[in-house]
Amino acid sequence: MGHDWKESLRVPGHRLTPQRLAVLEAIREAGCHCTLAEIQERLKPQHPTLTLPTVYRNLRYLVNAGLAAQTDLGGGCHVYEFVADKHHHHLVCLKCRTVIDLPDSFLDPLRNALRDRYGFTPCMEHFALFGVCPSCEKKASERSSDVCLGSDG
Ligand SMILES: [Zn+2]
Ligand SMILES: [Zn+2]
Repeated sequence: MGHDWKESLRVPGHRLTPQRLAVLEAIREAGCHCTLAEIQERLKPQHPTLTLPTVYRNLRYLVNAGLAAQTDLGGGCHVYEFVADKHHHHLVCLKCRTVIDLPDSFLDPLRNALRDRYGFTPCMEHFALFGVCPSCEKKASERSSDVCLGSDG
């Protein structure tokens, strides 16, 4: 596993209460993107009294501490994910909602360029780029008719 994620918990000023730790463990065990409701569902067996606003507050803390990431992958709601030990990003297809993972190292050239040219250090722990995936691209070119971005929401 390499780097121990619990190392990150020792950052000065980051105090993890049992509640925060429980929320953190819930998203870590999920191993993928979870909505607020899904996280609460996961916590229920051991923490039946945790309300959505409480879970949300704890999540916000974890996001600020850099242990969790909040992302909008489209679809109108935020998802949360454990990121303490693995920074990564996503390519999200606007048509079929496929999510492709992007390794963090992919962004190093961009980071360096931003630093060199603008003296700017971007916070890109976890972000999503929206676009069209290869299979949707292919479908579109096969049809070559105008594409309707339907609202089936
Ligand atoms: Zn992610
Ligand atoms: Zn697609």
